[in-house]
Amino acid sequence: MSQQLPDPRRVAVASLGGTITMTSDRSDGRGVVPSLSAADLLSSVPGIAHVEVESTTLATVPGASLELTDLLGVLRWARDAVDAGADGVVVVQGTDTIEESAYLLDLYWDRSAPLVVTGAMRAAQAPGADGPANLSASVVTAASAGARDRGVLVVLADQVHAAARVRKTRSSGPDVFRSPSFGPLGYVDEGGVTFGGPPSRPAPLTGDLPTGPLLVPLLETFLGDDGRLLRVVDDAGCDGVVLAGFGVGHLSRGLADVVEEVATRRPVVVATRTGAGTTYTSTYGFPGSESDLIGRGAVLAGWLDPRKARILLGCLLGAGSDRSTVADEFRRRGARGAGA
Ligand code: ASP
Repeated sequence: MSQQLPDPRRVAVASLGGTITMTSDRSDGRGVVPSLSAADLLSSVPGIAHVEVESTTLATVPGASLELTDLLGVLRWARDAVDAGADGVVVVQGTDTIEESAYLLDLYWDRSAPLVVTGAMRAAQAPGADGPANLSASVVTAASAGARDRGVLVVLADQVHAAARVRKTRSSGPDVFRSPSFGPLGYVDEGGVTFGGPPSRPAPLTGDLPTGPLLVPLLETFLGDDGRLLRVVDDAGCDGVVLAGFGVGHLSRGLADVVEEVATRRPVVVATRTGAGTTYTSTYGFPGSESDLIGRGAVLAGWLDPRKARILLGCLLGAGSDRSTVADEFRRRGARGAGA
């Protein structure tokens, strides 16, 4: 008796551009620019058993030039693909902005199917180009049942990262994406993906992505920061501001005074500038400490790094959220045990 094979998995791939799509017509291979389509990229990847892949090219731009409207388009395309039967979707883009775009998509991704974001550090014609391997690992992840209910995942160098945690930690080299506080969620090996634990993520935001333009500056504090720069930003007008503070969320006494004033007009979020770890809430008590800043009206970002905090604040303000909603969402998404 012939055995019935299960239906093949279906994965939809969309490209926005980035180094993975970049080529050069110069003999020295320099001066690369985005040029390849999603179909071109897939032609460099060997077929993956039992996975049917379809492709579409949404944009052909470097990561630095991606706009909110591109991400709105991605979200629409990804939801349509899943609603039409795809088991998972892959978005290919420039690595320069993956840590921001992936988190923004994650905040709104309201399907069980995985949305995987990938790219490459080496251009398509470079020796050792990492694009084909990253794309292949991403398709494997998107097709995997174990990747469901994990929101948006970032897959490069055979590692699977949570969009809320991943950072580009080095400017060049093939293996630079890390989740510094908790490590990757899983690994791609031998054509499959293994996760270290069960899915856990806060519920997505309801409503649509903000269409902007929102002004949410990210300012990093520095030795000798007396708050003058924050005052300039406040005077210029903005919707809210994120400060990348020292250590567990500390600022100078002078800057703390300005925060107190600015926080009466717009939300001020304080994250850590250290690159990993959380802000505290109640350990230190000096002027400019985390507990003092909370008392002065600032919101502490918890485990969200400054860039993720800026994305979250922008999305909340774009949806017209009030002060208490902003504080609640930062508590929910930045807290211990918030999942990824
Ligand atoms: N500058 C490139 C980009 O973001 C870097 C990359 O894709 O790796 O488009």
